[in-house]
Amino acid sequence: MIYAHTSFVLPLPAGHRFPMSKYARLRERVSGFAAALMHVPEAAGDAELRRAHDEGYIDAVSRGTLDERAQRRIGFPWSPAMVERSRRSAGATLAACRHALDAGLGINLAGGTHHAHRAHGEGFCVFNDAAVAARAMQVEGRARRVLVVDLDVHQGDGTAAIFDGDADVTTLSVHGRQNFPFRKARSSIDVELDDGTGDDAYLATLGAVLPRAIDRARPDLAIYLAGADPYAGDRLGRLSLTKAGLADRDRLVLERLAAQGIPVAIAMAGGYAEDVDDVVDIHAATVTLALERHGVS
Ligand SMILES: [Zn+2]
Repeated sequence: MIYAHTSFVLPLPAGHRFPMSKYARLRERVSGFAAALMHVPEAAGDAELRRAHDEGYIDAVSRGTLDERAQRRIGFPWSPAMVERSRRSAGATLAACRHALDAGLGINLAGGTHHAHRAHGEGFCVFNDAAVAARAMQVEGRARRVLVVDLDVHQGDGTAAIFDGDADVTTLSVHGRQNFPFRKARSSIDVELDDGTGDDAYLATLGAVLPRAIDRARPDLAIYLAGADPYAGDRLGRLSLTKAGLADRDRLVLERLAAQGIPVAIAMAGGYAEDVDDVVDIHAATVTLALERHGVS
């Protein structure tokens, strides 16, 4: 199942640098080949958010009482729509995980808000959908051990911090060394790439580290953050992957997980290419490949 909602598109002031239109375009693109699989996710409730986030932070986000600095750190102006979007997106990854555990695969057409920490948001991330979803699966007794495969070009610092010291959740982050966040957290496994890294080096590195992460995690469930921002044309990425290279990346991840019978929930994470259609192409290719691999069409 594919989870998407119109609230993923948050109205922003003119000139805001976040490419919000990618969510509407991706939803439209995916509707073109998988409309029957698309579902509207429930919003994550307070009880679900509290397993990964500080209660005071959830309240302040919900009521719009974060101080100016904390709001600026998130990068979006506060609005009821911002709260709704953040809750729906966490709910979508949660639903994708539930479905993955039932049927092998679930997809959120947003999510991957991995810079959200327990008690603060950052870098366009309000709530950490992967963390909220992983905790929900544990509490619901659906999965005990979870592997987060974070291939967004930026380090999954919020996820790493939330699960720091938790032996049941393994966090793998493959990211640019010179990129945001400049003060990195410590994931279970971090792989730092140099600026300009291209397809071959990227795929060789991933091919080596992923089996190690799977062995260490022995997961009941994987959550895959399929960021579009390692793309050469990304404004924020600093790497040089092609679209074909990104498709190979997705194939590598999905094949490795499938080979060991590990269910996977996929979230889209970042993408800031000059041309928003490039971001949509990359995400849509991930969705297509995942559906094919799992025999859904
Ligand atoms: Zn990113």
